[in-house]
Amino acid sequence: MLHFVDLVMLLKKVHRDRLTRAKIAHFLEFLSSPAYCQIVGFGSRVIKLSNGAEIKIPKVIRTVMASRVIQLYDTFCESTDFSSLRRSSLYKIVKLCASSQKTSLQGLDNTIDDGMKGIDTLEKIVRKLNTFGLDPSLTKEVTLFLYRTSQHSKFDIKGHISFQSDVVNHCSRYALSDNKEKDFSGKCQHEHDNSCSVCSAVLQCESKVTDLYKEIQDNIPSE
Ligand SMILES: [Zn+2]
Ligand SMILES: [Zn+2]
Repeated sequence: MLHFVDLVMLLKKVHRDRLTRAKIAHFLEFLSSPAYCQIVGFGSRVIKLSNGAEIKIPKVIRTVMASRVIQLYDTFCESTDFSSLRRSSLYKIVKLCASSQKTSLQGLDNTIDDGMKGIDTLEKIVRKLNTFGLDPSLTKEVTLFLYRTSQHSKFDIKGHISFQSDVVNHCSRYALSDNKEKDFSGKCQHEHDNSCSVCSAVLQCESKVTDLYKEIQDNIPSE
């Protein structure tokens, strides 16, 4: 992980006014939190400033949309009374830091990785069922469903989540609230009475495959 001390070392090369340097360091420190980025291997990239100075930063994969990181950073600065760089500068930094946002996350994030493995297993089962005579169009339909669900969980779901939402799957305040510890919970000022068919699709994956199994159960020879 990129530590603050390393950042200060990196920024020593920058011959700019102290305030700007401190502000860049402040944002980079926030940005390098494992909640938003994951460092990939040992690669690094160099940021060139307008005065010719260079800052070397590690290559990272950003796991959260740029606008969301900046929104969170704004909130953080407000709550700590820190006057940050302009939004356009923040966007530039985010863009330069992240090697890419939509890159394969397999092997990086354990939770996402486990989910992906689960869907991979279900896909394999469907392929196997196909060899036992499962209708090709049904095979195709469910395989596509599994593929779409995995892509959504990997990439697009982050765009659905917000601080407040009447969709229970989208409400981060609700999701992050501890129902036992009052100090670690927040109350929603809204009902969660809407649903998102794309986000809840993941719950249907297993039963869809089980249904396919039941269709051709009799064709499968017992060992
Ligand atoms: Zn809510
Ligand atoms: Zn959704």
